[in-house]
Amino acid sequence: MKRILVTGGAGFLGSHLCEKLLEMGHEVICVDNFFTGSKRNIVHLLQNPYFELIRHDVTFPLFVEVDEIYNLACPASPVHYQFDPVQTTKTSVHGAINMLGLAKRIKAKIFQASTSEVYGDPEVHPQSESYWGKVNPIGIRSCYDEGKRCAETLFFDYFRQHSVKIKVARIFNTYGPRMHPDDGRVVSNFIVQALKGEDITIYGEGQQTRSFCYVDDLIGGFVKLMDTDDDVTGPINLGNPNEFTIRQLAERVLDLTGSSSKIIYEKLPQDDPKQRQPNIDMATDILAWQPSIQLDEGLNKTIGYFDLLLRENEK
Ligand code: NAD
Ligand code: UDP
Repeated sequence: MKRILVTGGAGFLGSHLCEKLLEMGHEVICVDNFFTGSKRNIVHLLQNPYFELIRHDVTFPLFVEVDEIYNLACPASPVHYQFDPVQTTKTSVHGAINMLGLAKRIKAKIFQASTSEVYGDPEVHPQSESYWGKVNPIGIRSCYDEGKRCAETLFFDYFRQHSVKIKVARIFNTYGPRMHPDDGRVVSNFIVQALKGEDITIYGEGQQTRSFCYVDDLIGGFVKLMDTDDDVTGPINLGNPNEFTIRQLAERVLDLTGSSSKIIYEKLPQDDPKQRQPNIDMATDILAWQPSIQLDEGLNKTIGYFDLLLRENEK
């Protein structure tokens, strides 16, 4: 049994990770400042004696003794990370420094939840780990993209300079139960709009693409990456390579919910990447990992979750 710290553990991905680590027989310390996370996501874990919750902001130092750290703390949806962009950069950069400092002191292995956003609006398709990206350093997405890029830099400098054991994952768009219903991400937006019978808001013409990974597949990849030998540092792409236009996604959601919502078109946000698809050869070779849940199956599970949530909120 290991003692494992999960920052951002009350968020969408973090709560699934805490659950998985407990199932594997580990002890979990979940740290969160509840900016976008919620107690609802982890309430079912609070009775477990091997689960501990600490309200804490990772931009401040933290003193705990653990074997492994998963650093997930950071708002992930454009609406949330643009709400307080200075705090977003601080969370990525100061948060990384604090967690890397902790890992260094206690000699813990540390995993970083990096992102496909480090590739920006990519000129190379699909994106491999060797691509350095095309990122606007001064735009409205930069607090997130550049914050995450700087965090990667810090991880690799702590690795080279202080021999910290690092594992950097570049996560592509992931969806599933426990996404925040108002976080503005495309899957949650479309499902909630369809279930409420509201208009489905496509930004731009809907020809931009994303590749959507179901949360259970992704979490399996996290654990496999953490379990690799010390010479495996990443960065390593984790995502589902099946690529869809946003228009196709809207049509799938309408079909699977049976909703009569109308599709409407709104302005495309600044710097919105036109295409995104992971090359996952490295994950397949090194981790023997690949996603197994395809879009309709994952969407059905997510629709079930939001249906229940909306009914509960109506009560
Ligand atoms: P989320 O917003 O649900 O989770 C983030 C969690 O971090 C929340 O619980 C939030 O309260 C917490 N948090 C934010 N700032 C904090 C701070 N300063 N101190 C402590 N806790 C803080 O988002 P998510 O989708 O679960 O994303 C988790 C991580 O994975 C993020 O780092 C995100 O950048 C990364 N990621 C996610 C995706 C995706 O598609 N879901 C894709 C790429 C990368
Ligand atoms: N999007 C959309 N309608 C929405 C929300 C998002 O058309 O209601 C688009 C958005 O412009 C982007 C894509 O869907 O092109 C994915 O957006 P999301 O915020 O989920 O993730 P990211 O842009 O960070 O990949």
